[in-house]
Amino acid sequence: MSRSSTAWSNWAGNVTDDATVLRPRTPGEVAEQIRSAAGEGRRVRPVGSGHSFTAIAQADDLRLDLTGLSGIVSADRGSGRVRVLAGTPLRVLNTALDLLGLAMPNLGDIDAQTLAGATSTGTHGTGAGLAGLAAGIVGLRLVTVDGSERWVDESDPELFGAARVGLGALGVITEIELACLPAYRLRAVERPDSLDVVLPRIQEHFDAHRHFEMYWFPGTRRVQTKANDLVDDDVHEPLAPWRRRLDDELLSNTVFGAANRVLTKAPRAVLPFNAIAARALTERSYTAASHEVFVTPRTVRFVESEYAVPREAVGDVLADLVAWVERRREPISFPVEVRVAAADDMWLSTGYDRANAYVAVHQYHRGDHRAYFAAFEEIVAAHAGRPHWGKLHTLGAEQLARLYPRHGDFVALRDRLDPDRVLTNDYLDRVLGP
Ligand SMILES: Cc1cc2nc3c(=O)[nH]c(=O)nc-3n(C[C@H](O)[C@H](O)[C@H](O)COP(=O)(O)OP(=O)(O)OC[C@H]3O[C@@H](n4cnc5c(N)ncnc54)[C@H](O)[C@@H]3O)c2cc1C
Repeated sequence: MSRSSTAWSNWAGNVTDDATVLRPRTPGEVAEQIRSAAGEGRRVRPVGSGHSFTAIAQADDLRLDLTGLSGIVSADRGSGRVRVLAGTPLRVLNTALDLLGLAMPNLGDIDAQTLAGATSTGTHGTGAGLAGLAAGIVGLRLVTVDGSERWVDESDPELFGAARVGLGALGVITEIELACLPAYRLRAVERPDSLDVVLPRIQEHFDAHRHFEMYWFPGTRRVQTKANDLVDDDVHEPLAPWRRRLDDELLSNTVFGAANRVLTKAPRAVLPFNAIAARALTERSYTAASHEVFVTPRTVRFVESEYAVPREAVGDVLADLVAWVERRREPISFPVEVRVAAADDMWLSTGYDRANAYVAVHQYHRGDHRAYFAAFEEIVAAHAGRPHWGKLHTLGAEQLARLYPRHGDFVALRDRLDPDRVLTNDYLDRVLGP
């Protein structure tokens, strides 16, 4: 068993630790390492690719780095059922599925996360008819702290309800079976527009497209909308390579990153900069394989908070946020992202029993996010906002129990599966209780 101590940081750089790292290469090694760590009274934190903004993956004793558990275990192209090792990065999974003629039903906007890391925090994309990524799980292999492993699926509705979005608090997932779709292509239509035109009709937009999202540029009335819909497999209208490089690499990353570095020293120029940036946006349309449409490169570091609110509340939330930015003129250089997802039955999913709109606020990693995120939390609190587990929020177990109807059941299950709290850390103690 290899053990070494390494400094670790999440993607945003706002969470660090220097725990001792364990790197299992097989599900059997996971079971052995958990059993021996629990026997020694140690605490273990399973970790994926460190893309959570919260300290959910922070280890204070042993870090179980699952990135060695990567690859497809088996695939049935007919049924679309694919078994995947839990530490497989989404980008590796997407390429492998493509080769099999299959695809994920939906994705978020990056592909750097591991599969189990993404599903364990309730990662989602956008689409009124589609729930988060974990809703595509039909079964998973869970290693509990006594080192025993079990296959969890709908035949055990309690554990299945809890473990798909399990926050790494119930056990370590070593394998996940996904229900995939035959590979599909999307047409993306991205268009600059006015907030006053799009927001009043946003529910129609949500329902009119397989995927719809809106970006609002703080300090302006400008938005950029993105609508992705299915096209036939033989429709190939790709984006010119120069256009992709210009928009996605140069404007969204290189120039945007340089602008943020300068704007950190000139905060009063930020909102006027947004007005220029929003005016520079142009319309574009292209077709591509689904995963290529969903995923965009993100090289400019930021921190983020995201809350799910009932779909019908999204207009009020945006109106309050717009009014707050106008009043305060805070230097916020990142657009606010608005998405939608269907209800699901996973206990700690933001979508539990509720169709939601998602509102996400971002701030440059060297900027000050505190006043902005605090105001945002106050606004969404008026609409029973549920926080994304991997994105910054300040809520504790008592408040969360009021927002997630099965929170108490989850805590009771955790008491049963991990009574000695081998798998906990400060973040889990805060959101679930000690
Ligand atoms: C640039 C960027 C873009 C993002 N875009 C989106 C988006 O579009 N939509 C969205 O919803 N979220 C998004 N996120 C958030 C991200 O998807 C989640 O935070 C996700 O959990 C990160 O996955 P990870 O592999 O890095 O997991 P980590 O952050 O390493 O871990 C997350 C949690 O999963 C647990 N875990 C990891 N592996 C296992 C395992 N094998 N068994 C049990 N528990 C495990 C950990 O203990 C921890 O609790 C984004 C984040 C970034 C940085």
